[in-house]
Amino acid sequence: MNKKLIETVKKKLSEESSRLEKQIADLQGHNRPKNGSEGVEWMEVGTKEDENASEVATYQENLSLEQNLQASLGEIKIALEKIAAGTYGVCSVCGRDIEQKRLEVFPAATQHTDCRTNSATV
Ligand SMILES: [Zn+2]
Repeated sequence: MNKKLIETVKKKLSEESSRLEKQIADLQGHNRPKNGSEGVEWMEVGTKEDENASEVATYQENLSLEQNLQASLGEIKIALEKIAAGTYGVCSVCGRDIEQKRLEVFPAATQHTDCRTNSATV
């Protein structure tokens, strides 16, 4: 794996990871109640049924968005660990080097495009 690519990828991954961490922190901030003082009481905010329902819906949307962000962040951290361990860019299915072009576009990739398509996992 060429060093220049590793440097580029490392920079991209670090930037992406701080961006995701910030987004997650923002989301967690939004999930706190607007009126209540503590997180545990958010369910009781709002007197009408539909107000509560829409708060729950927003909360759940944010929660699944947060889970997606956490998952992406997890992939990025794995990629960074692999760079540190010197195993970055190796396909987890067939063990060959992943295409450089793919890594440039999707630095957290752990499989070839073909291997990813053929396997059920990410
Ligand atoms: Zn492969």
